[in-house]
Amino acid sequence: MKLLEIENLKKSFEDLDVLHDISLGVEEGEVVAIIGPSGSGKSTLLRCATFLEQIDSGSIAYGGKVYVENDTAGNAKKPERAKILEAQSNFGLVFQDFNLFPHFSVLKNVMDAPVKNQKRPKQEVEKEARALLAKMGLEGKEDAYPCE
Ligand code: ADP
Ligand code: MG
Repeated sequence: MKLLEIENLKKSFEDLDVLHDISLGVEEGEVVAIIGPSGSGKSTLLRCATFLEQIDSGSIAYGGKVYVENDTAGNAKKPERAKILEAQSNFGLVFQDFNLFPHFSVLKNVMDAPVKNQKRPKQEVEKEARALLAKMGLEGKEDAYPCE
């Protein structure tokens, strides 16, 4: 089963036609690179896929569950907020900038989303967060602050 499946996605900003007819699928564990010149629509595609932009038409499914699809007139239906939140608690966009909370330690920055959003047990998340930091060569930085 595909983790992400986008079909026939179209997105314009007024008369600027940015995404014409994009279809793609991503399998679990697969890494997909979206490449193209500046202004070609890479960020717009990622913003659409993570529901930060409402698409004009097409469909978006995560884990086999359809979150956005067309109505009978062929326009993408606006998903309900609860549905968006459900998808966003599992899938998200990591920006190029380091958008860390400056008043949280490195460890708390990593732990915050799974604890608050996914309501996972703190102890389990902390273990995972420490392992992830070690994997990234950031062992010993757990208690540091982003601006240090
Ligand atoms: P890339 O990430 O590939 O550099 P973008 O997705 O940022 O490209 O932008 C694609 C095009 O859409 C550009 O012409 C950009 O100016 C335009 N664009 C992006 N966001 C908006 C917006 N919110 N309103 C109007 N035009 C936008
Ligand atoms: Mg971009």
